[in-house]
This record gives sequence, structure tokens and C-alpha cells, in this order.
Amino acid sequence: EQVELKRLLEDICDRMKGKAAKFDLTLHTNIKEAVVWADRESLIHIFINLIDNAIKYNEPGGKVEVTSYTLENSIIVDVANTGIGIPPEAEEKLFQPFFTVNKDRSRLSGGTGLGLALAKDLTEKQKGVIKLHHSDSKWTIFKVSFPLKTEK
Ligand code: ATP
Ligand code: MG
Repeated sequence: EQVELKRLLEDICDRMKGKAAKFDLTLHTNIKEAVVWADRESLIHIFINLIDNAIKYNEPGGKVEVTSYTLENSIIVDVANTGIGIPPEAEEKLFQPFFTVNKDRSRLSGGTGLGLALAKDLTEKQKGVIKLHHSDSKWTIFKVSFPLKTEK
């Protein structure tokens, strides 16, 4: 189905703002208008997962930023968060089911390690790509891209 991505992402972010505030975080969006041809429920799962992680693996006073832009025939969405980040040795396992970086850290926030595995599966079913773009001790950025629905 045809999905207005800006509307969908802004709705999700509005819904997540309460949780962000509870963790003493600010959640900002800067999203371009774009129409993608995808399954709406899948997109909701993917982005709730990423934003939920960006909130859980953050630090009080931190930030979550959801940004999007178009590049050639794709729309790219960045979900960025402050926090302790993902160690390089964890990168290759990040999208495997049940993988969590640190058991103690996940127990605190109740993670089962399924979120990213599901997000990857759903993204690829929509002909999209999901990856960890960058992570250091300041910022972690996940990038998701989908082909744009173009007029024929
Ligand atoms: P679930 O999503 O099933 O509730 P989860 O959040 O632990 O559990 P994933 O979303 O698959 O599982 O993430 C896997 C692990 O990757 C997390 O446990 C966490 O250690 C790490 N991680 C994921 N996103 C981030 C992030 N934005 N910043 C830092 N670490 C992250
Ligand atoms: Mg998760």
C-alpha cells in the first residue's frame, strides 16, 4: 500500500514522546515528505523498535533524533541517539535473534534481543536496507532506506 512516511514517523514519535520524557530525553524529528510503497504495519514495527532502542540505550539528559532525506530514488531515515553506544565487536551480531550487547544492560530495560532481528526481516521484505551506520561513545545512528514510490 502507499504510505506517507512523514505522517507515519511523526505519529510514532508523538506516541513515543511520553516514554522519552520519562527517561529524561528529548525526541526531535526532521522528516521530509515522501511516499513509499510498503506494508504500513511493518513500517510501524521497524521504527517503534529503533526508537524504543534509542530511548532504552540512552542516558538521562540525552537526545533521540529521527531525520529523513531523499537520495536518488530512496528515502533514508536516520534514527540517532546519544548514549554509551555499541562496541565494534557487537556490530556483526546486532541483527541476530536474541543478541544483546550486555546482559546486565538489557535486563534493566527488559530487552529480549528480538527487536533488531525482526526489524531487519521486515525491512528486507519491503525491499529496504537497515544498518548500523555509526556508533561511538556519543552517538549511535541506525539508517533505514526504502525505494521511493515514483510517478511512472
Ligand atoms: P527487544 O527489542 O526484543 O525488546 P532489545 O532491545 O534488547 O530487545 P534489539 O532491539 O534486537 O534487542 O537490540 C539488540 C541489542 O543491541 C540491545 O540489547 C542493545 O544491547 C543493543 N542496541 C540496540 N540499539 C541500540 C542503540 N540505539 N544504542 C545502543 N545499543 C543498542
Ligand atoms: Mg529493541
